[in-house]
Amino acid sequence: MQRSDTQDPAYFHKVVDCQWACPAHTPVPEYIRLIGQGRYDDAYMVNWVSNVFPGVLGRTCDRPCEPACRRGRVEDKNVGEKKPEAVAICRLKRVAADHKSQELRALLPKPLPRNGKKVACVGAGPASLTVARDLATQGYAVTVFDGETKPGGFIRSQIPRFRLPESVIDEECGYILGLGVELRAGRRIESMRALLAEGYDAVFVGCGAPRGRDLQLPGRQEAGERIRIGIDWLASVSFGHVTSVQPRVIVLGGGNTAMDCCRSARRLGASSVTVAVRSGYAQMKASPWEKEDAEHEGIPILDFHVPLAFEHEGGKLTGMRFKKAQTGEEVSIPCDEVLIAVGQENAFPWIERDAGIAFNEHGLPLLDAQSFQSSLPQVFFGGDAAFGPKNIITAVAHGHEAAVSIDRYLHAEPVTKRPPPHVNLLSQKMGIHEWSYDNGITNELRHKVPWAAAEKALASIRVEVELGFDAATAFKEAQRCLNCDVQTVFTDKLCIECDACVDICPMDSISFVENGAEADLRQRLKAPALNLAQDLYVSGTLKTARVMVKDEDVCLHCGLCAERCPTGAWDMQKFLLLTTKAGPACRDTPARAPLAERKVTA
Ligand SMILES: Cc1cc2nc3c(=O)[nH]c(=O)nc-3n(C[C@H](O)[C@H](O)[C@H](O)COP(=O)(O)OP(=O)(O)OC[C@H]3O[C@@H](n4cnc5c(N)ncnc54)[C@H](O)[C@@H]3O)c2cc1C
Ligand code: SF4
Ligand code: SF4
Repeated sequence: MQRSDTQDPAYFHKVVDCQWACPAHTPVPEYIRLIGQGRYDDAYMVNWVSNVFPGVLGRTCDRPCEPACRRGRVEDKNVGEKKPEAVAICRLKRVAADHKSQELRALLPKPLPRNGKKVACVGAGPASLTVARDLATQGYAVTVFDGETKPGGFIRSQIPRFRLPESVIDEECGYILGLGVELRAGRRIESMRALLAEGYDAVFVGCGAPRGRDLQLPGRQEAGERIRIGIDWLASVSFGHVTSVQPRVIVLGGGNTAMDCCRSARRLGASSVTVAVRSGYAQMKASPWEKEDAEHEGIPILDFHVPLAFEHEGGKLTGMRFKKAQTGEEVSIPCDEVLIAVGQENAFPWIERDAGIAFNEHGLPLLDAQSFQSSLPQVFFGGDAAFGPKNIITAVAHGHEAAVSIDRYLHAEPVTKRPPPHVNLLSQKMGIHEWSYDNGITNELRHKVPWAAAEKALASIRVEVELGFDAATAFKEAQRCLNCDVQTVFTDKLCIECDACVDICPMDSISFVENGAEADLRQRLKAPALNLAQDLYVSGTLKTARVMVKDEDVCLHCGLCAERCPTGAWDMQKFLLLTTKAGPACRDTPARAPLAERKVTA
């Protein structure tokens, strides 16, 4: 194998599994260490720069980082029989938000003086607000339009208050609006042409995927009064237009919307709530914890139930008929209300099809996958509006990228060219055996986030169920993090091949072997390296003609190799990767002022 190119920013980035998996590439171990040190404001700001909504996401993130977390695959050796579990990365983020001080506002950046450029954002969801945050600080005049009266998008209108209190949304949207962003709430954009004619230099479309799918089955029209589209119903509940439900409710669908519908119906007083899903339980789209939370609240999930018809008597809904997919048997389940949560789709009724923006056969805009630029160069898309419904952190990630594109576009630089991330690698050595980070590996299992008492939580739709970690538990959970950003850096010139690191490594991560092809090497190491998603770290050729090969997959970053090495060939170096945001760092010619003459017309 070739010697590993550790100069490539992606090399060590991949070792930080959580940050690599996070769509916004949040430096997770950095903020977890800060939480462990009680530096909550600093931890909050690390999050704010990357994922923009630490308090919101600390409660609601889809957590793609957690299945990737190294702790979840190396812990079994430490804790014996128990199932290995990831660090509670998401809920630690909430700790930073819950425990931050009043001084936080003073840490937010002051916007640069206005640069004469105007950007319009359609929709005030997480995608647009991220664009606004990134561009307003750089001197752009950003106007955000939303048909609703308050900012937040689906964060406010769909996610129920028992998962996300309104005060958290107000606070975090407020930080962005406080940067001088103009919010035109209650103003729905009805025409792209008319918006372009208002003279904005660029337009960002973050209008989400607002249409809930319907289910056209026999009885749908007749019993329509008691059949609701789930996402519309949730919005009505959020805005207080719906305050009660019928006694027996069936929720159709297996995604997170279905879970929010059933848990909301339970809180609005339904005596029986049942979820029916076509797929098997394991194939349901809802996150595992959403399913667990619903079942914990006494809501049965019936899988392999294919809906056949809405049953009714003279237009009054009485039940639903299903076919059991595995046996073919038909069953009727009585009910008085049905909530349909079988998916969402995009809709752009306000974008004229001759406005210059091309759409594909699924009604999605044709975009450059990296820059989010549409076929009308000054119009960019992001969030659910770009490629269909996803989640908040993806919308944020799109927002950052679109802001970079807009910034480059308005400086007449190619938008498809992306600047490299900012990378820093720094030794953590303080003495021969002393490191500036806490490298002890705790054996504690993942800590559970406490819940409000069931009778209190189920009595109101507005009582938050999860209470968050207290400082002491947060510290213990933070200690479970393996500091995967503190990298083992090997200098082959210093190595005397004494094997001391091989002997001390608790994970059999290091081998000195003859070089070979990757597949062969993976089998010949001290322990076979089976996770192909993580690289082998291969050194240059050593004096004995062998190479040092380290399996990056299972390293605990304990630093024992570096402590034991008599020559200092191993060092523990903290790797920090920050993606480049809009602003001078993202441009080829930072000093150039934005183009004054560029104007948008349809
Ligand atoms: C029930 C439900 C629960 C969810 N729970 C989670 C969760 O727990 N975690 C998670 O990560 N994701 C969750 N999601 C998904 C998440 O909410 C979305 O992926 C995310 O909000 C998308 O952000 P966005 O900025 O693209 O658009 P949105 O948040 O949808 O915001 C779009 C905004 O644009 C406005 N708008 C639309 N058209 C116009 C127009 N023509 N003029 C002006 N304004 C307009 C809308 O009023 C809206 O405010 C959930 C979704 C649903 C439906
Ligand atoms: S152990 Fe810590 S640094 Fe490593 S992947 Fe998990 S959260 Fe990230
Ligand atoms: S830091 Fe060194 S000793 Fe510790 S697990 Fe990783 S390779 Fe082994």
